[in-house]
Amino acid sequence: MYDLIGIGIGPMNLGLSALAHPTPLRTLFFDESEQFSWHPGMMIKDSMMQTSFISDLVTLADPTSSFTYLNYLRSINRLHTFYFYEQLLISRQEYNAYLKWVASQLDDLSFSTRVIDVQDTGDSYEVLVENVLTGERATYETRNVVIGTGAKPSIPESFDSNVIHNTQYVMEKEQLLTKHKISIVGSGQSAAEIFLDLLTSDRSPDLNLEWISRSTIFETLETGKLGEEIFSPSYVEYFNQLPLKTRQEAVSKFARSQNGISPETLQSIYEHLYDLTKEQKERVQIRANLEVEKITYDSQFEIEMRHTELNQARTSTADAVIAATGFSPALPSFINRLNIEFEGEQAWKVDANYRIVRSIESPHHLYATTNLELSHGPAADNLGMSVSRNQLILNDVAGKDLYPVEQHATFTTFN
Ligand SMILES: Cc1cc2nc3c(=O)[nH]c(=O)nc-3n(C[C@H](O)[C@H](O)[C@H](O)COP(=O)(O)OP(=O)(O)OC[C@H]3O[C@@H](n4cnc5c(N)ncnc54)[C@H](O)[C@@H]3O)c2cc1C
Repeated sequence: MYDLIGIGIGPMNLGLSALAHPTPLRTLFFDESEQFSWHPGMMIKDSMMQTSFISDLVTLADPTSSFTYLNYLRSINRLHTFYFYEQLLISRQEYNAYLKWVASQLDDLSFSTRVIDVQDTGDSYEVLVENVLTGERATYETRNVVIGTGAKPSIPESFDSNVIHNTQYVMEKEQLLTKHKISIVGSGQSAAEIFLDLLTSDRSPDLNLEWISRSTIFETLETGKLGEEIFSPSYVEYFNQLPLKTRQEAVSKFARSQNGISPETLQSIYEHLYDLTKEQKERVQIRANLEVEKITYDSQFEIEMRHTELNQARTSTADAVIAATGFSPALPSFINRLNIEFEGEQAWKVDANYRIVRSIESPHHLYATTNLELSHGPAADNLGMSVSRNQLILNDVAGKDLYPVEQHATFTTFN
């Protein structure tokens, strides 16, 4: 009998496993991938984290843990160089290497194992898993389950299936660089990074690039000091108890804090665009206010767009299209049998302790570490906030304060 079984091993549940490690809790986590790997298709050279190294898997809950980023640096003999480096932001590749280092030390992680069903027996949960390599099945019993299945790429249905989602970018890059013209759809950080990477690639002088955005401006990520306090436990706690309608409205209000482009990426893009003005040819087009309505493919892509303010149709052609069009929650189908209460189409109702609300009373719980935007606000996907979330979940599972929660962490009062 386990205390907690986790579905999915992304950074959220990996952090939970790292924090559970020194406690008496019996935990087990499953992931269908063969090994731990964090967004491999977006491991673009020089791409940076948007949160400081302090938002590693454990520091904000327990800086004395052996799984801190600083301890990782010490283990690979880079602690002093990092001290002189004097930066809070690290590269995405370094963060991924750190996550792999943590994963390699935890013995409650099981890869190549897909969770195919969870059944509530009344006394506990039975978790049915399948080894994706051998097809072998096994059942595990647990008091609680935490769902951390993350998100899946989302591409509008009206786009041809040959359009590549940005999560495939690194794997497709070599092939992409053989093309004459590439269009990128979307105006968030991923689109900006891919645009910059293609703009600066060795093949760049012969490549025509088109960047299509629905919005009028390319928003910068909110990095203002007080503004960032919405990524704090105080704000999350406040947000969770707001009426549904207020939360729904708030989610769209915070688009800039979540989806904006980092100032460094925008600066670098502009510098390279400025350099291009020395060339006397137009090979980069940045198009704002254009909603892509349809993309078809017949030896070339045809992109049908509509101007959002002039309401006029536009078309464009390309040899490859990259859709940086976001994600939708990856919800396993078996959750439909667990009497979960939903607030929106795919948004489950989740309480302040990250228990998923069910229409039946039960002494054992289902927790969520993903798909929390509507219940917990803009910090739902934030790596720093995931640490305090994991504290609350473990405290709740243990029935006592394994990790006391820090109080009064913000200057702003929200309620
Ligand atoms: C390119 C990129 C960069 C980002 N950078 C930052 C950043 O700098 N700072 C920040 O705060 N946030 C960042 N984020 C947002 C967020 O931190 C990440 O998306 C993070 O990966 C979310 O973690 P997760 O554990 O919820 O899900 P995921 O990382 O998506 O992991 C979910 C896992 O569940 C597994 N799974 C799904 N279903 C099953 C099943 N039935 N059985 C077994 N396994 C299953 C999948 O294989 C997957 O490994 C970034 C996001 C992206 C896309």
